Amino acid sequence: TAELAWTPAWDRADGDERARTLFAATFGDAPDGVWSAPGRVNLIGEHTDYNGGLALPIALPHRTYAAVRRRGDDVVRLVSAQEPSGVREVRLADAVPGAVEGWAAYVVGVAWALREAGHDVGGFDVAIDSCVPFGAGLSSSAALEASVAVALDALFAAGLAGDVVDGAATDDAGRSTLAGLCVRAENEMAGAPTGGMDQAASLRARADHALLLDCRDGRVRHVPFDLAAHGLALLVVDTRAPHSHVDGEYAQRRAACERAAGLLGVGTLREVADDPRGSADALERLAAADDGAVLVRRVRHVVDEIARVSAFVERLDAGDVTGVGPVMDASHASLRDDYEVSCRELDVAVDAARAAGALGARMTGGGFGGSAIALVPAGAVEDVASAVAAAFAAADLRAPAFAVAVAAPPAG
Ligand code: ADP
Ligand code: MG
Repeated sequence: TAELAWTPAWDRADGDERARTLFAATFGDAPDGVWSAPGRVNLIGEHTDYNGGLALPIALPHRTYAAVRRRGDDVVRLVSAQEPSGVREVRLADAVPGAVEGWAAYVVGVAWALREAGHDVGGFDVAIDSCVPFGAGLSSSAALEASVAVALDALFAAGLAGDVVDGAATDDAGRSTLAGLCVRAENEMAGAPTGGMDQAASLRARADHALLLDCRDGRVRHVPFDLAAHGLALLVVDTRAPHSHVDGEYAQRRAACERAAGLLGVGTLREVADDPRGSADALERLAAADDGAVLVRRVRHVVDEIARVSAFVERLDAGDVTGVGPVMDASHASLRDDYEVSCRELDVAVDAARAAGALGARMTGGGFGGSAIALVPAGAVEDVASAVAAAFAAADLRAPAFAVAVAAPPAG
């Protein structure tokens, strides 16, 4: 059998050293410091964040490292080991939405959003290196924003990020604000209409816990999540599927939810989810619209998915970790059939993982490619990964990459 491709997380000292080395080679001298932030996997609660719903991500041990040095002017110079195009240079005075192209928008966007919020952020040099896979649904974009956000918070004394002690952030309220600024950077500067779960996970998650995020009011609860203690592991399958329509499809799903909410006279679909008696009635009313058949499926996914997050957390709270498997399976079916955001690669990954003994499996992230997750007995990780790789080969798909996810510390 062919070798499996694993994407290991760097240890912190290694990531730190890589960013420092790139900084020194690019800008000469040493940075003021290195900050880092994790990617994430969402355990359940997909396409719920922009509907005011619930989500349950964990931070990954895979992190983006930013070596940063404060400057005395308003110039930002940036370089990334993942972007071979060399050093970019942007003046903060010119950095307005639409004016910064490509990956620099995520970095400059964070400085812009902090300035918009009244913080006195000036120019800086930054060198980025990362082991978070790009565009794999594991949120390399939020990891990039959050690594820069905690760096600028420290260097320009914004006072929002606090510290991380024993894998937990000391100032969650400040980080909630910082996450909101990262969302502004991504939405307004990078032009990606993402909903906020990714930034919350990267900045507010806690080691050994899943982050129950209520996107209606931004409140969180840390739910103990230690799979190893239950003899289990979470296998991540990066399908490496090309997903060229992802932004347009994502925007269409958001628009459908907004249209449904408008027709129902509610602010967000969360209100429908919170009223189980009214939700059957709401679906019936939507069915009468021109695009009723589609709207019913979209809303049914959102309403059911929010309920599944609660069911998942109830089982974790009860110590019934294997009991979350069927909830994951139901989430995948709903994303595939009602929300229509899965794709062949994700379905092959999920089906093959289950057939090889996974207790549950689902796509994670926005869909149309990206990654799937499977809950597997700890001793079966290699076997399940091999079975998934074999299924991809048999289906003539590009070989997937694998990682093992544990709930890791937040940005710091
Ligand atoms: P995901 O967040 O799922 O990985 P996105 O499309 O949201 O996928 O974000 C990927 C984009 O974020 C990249 O195309 C790039 O512009 C930017 N990005 C993420 N990580 C890095 C990095 N290490 N260096 C440079 N740009 C990055
Ligand atoms: Mg992203």
